[in-house]
Amino acid sequence: MRNDPAPNERTGFFSGKMLQKTLHNSRITILCGVVTILVLRGTIGSGVDKTHFLDLTLDMDDIPDVEWDPKVPFKLGPTITNWDEQRAKWISKHPGANVNLQGKDRMLLVTGSQPRQCENPVGNFQLLKALKNKIDYCRLHDIDIFYNMAHLDIEMAGFWAKLPLLRKLLLAHPEMEWVWWMDSDALFTDMSFKVPLEKYNNYNLVLHGFDDKVYQQKLWTGLNTGSFFIRNCQWSLDLLDAWAPMGPKGVIRNRAGEMLSKSLVGRTNFEADDQSALVHLLIAQRQEWANKVLLENSYYLHGYWVDLVGKYEENMAKSHPGFGDDRWPFVTHFVGCKPCVKNGGDYPVDTCFKQMARAFTFADNQILDVLGFRHRKLGSPRVVRIREDTSHPLELQGKSLDTLTSTE
Ligand code: UDP
Ligand code: MN
Repeated sequence: MRNDPAPNERTGFFSGKMLQKTLHNSRITILCGVVTILVLRGTIGSGVDKTHFLDLTLDMDDIPDVEWDPKVPFKLGPTITNWDEQRAKWISKHPGANVNLQGKDRMLLVTGSQPRQCENPVGNFQLLKALKNKIDYCRLHDIDIFYNMAHLDIEMAGFWAKLPLLRKLLLAHPEMEWVWWMDSDALFTDMSFKVPLEKYNNYNLVLHGFDDKVYQQKLWTGLNTGSFFIRNCQWSLDLLDAWAPMGPKGVIRNRAGEMLSKSLVGRTNFEADDQSALVHLLIAQRQEWANKVLLENSYYLHGYWVDLVGKYEENMAKSHPGFGDDRWPFVTHFVGCKPCVKNGGDYPVDTCFKQMARAFTFADNQILDVLGFRHRKLGSPRVVRIREDTSHPLELQGKSLDTLTSTE
């Protein structure tokens, strides 16, 4: 309410509270009026120049935040029960829209970061490098990419932000068969590895994890929600609804955090996080969900950086990209590093930035190789030439984008 007059300016007939209420009511009236005009213009004006909409400027600061009433169970949005039919109908009207240029299921990689700049300026550079890394992988593998910086739901800020975002994107992109959530602090470290989508025909959610660690040991780290695939279907909307209720910040998130620390193994007491909530849901309602959830561990869909970064030199000496597993990890995820937050992480910030730079260059060498360059050493921004240029570039043996991504 930043346009309210200061209390000492409120004089005359109305008391402060009444004036506030009247102002609030008149704001709602004005807002309704503007919405009505917009709707009318939209219905009547199909033949009218659409750019006129832009003339109608609305002071967005005047729109109050829609606040959620904690007495009503939290919902991500209006209930949808027939998304599979709605989507099938859409695809029948847009044949081929759901396959990519290689004839495979279309996939949208979604990542993002906080709406404001990082408290630690180095964090901004790290976010840029992490985005460049994802653009490179997606370009090579014909995957669409979306970067989100908006908090779509103030209740679901922080690590919960991915839930309302995923729901919105599934609904806004019926052409996408899969949406891939990837944390901003996760880097592709194998640019050649192809996701074995055909293996997931019978599944709707694929995360890195282990059945035994989730269902028997009840470890909150039995799976990781920093990189996962979710299928565009009704089941996924239902799962997001079942996953979300511990998310609203404040009392609910704090109380749920206490409960999760008691019910899961290895969890210190902190507010509820999306990963623990999913582990809890899978254990508590295993019959309902587990048969469509694949906990993948044949390659690093997520890989814990502490276990991987020290082995990059060995990977380079003994192996080559394309495996995605211990021979050459697919994703290196800097869990607990919090590069954007000042002193916010569980590890020394210098160690995090040093190892992130190493991971970035480890991956970037695979991109630069095509251009005939490589980083001087892991972690160094400087590059060196590894081949002389030729006057017949297309005859170069074995060094092209084709070989970088081919399975043979
Ligand atoms: N994130 C976001 N908006 C925010 C805060 C976080 O989109 O305002 C995303 C960001 O991609 C981040 C992810 O949420 O990587 C999860 O948080 P983080 O990686 O810090 O958690 P960790 O992996 O360390 O548990
Ligand atoms: Mn992360």
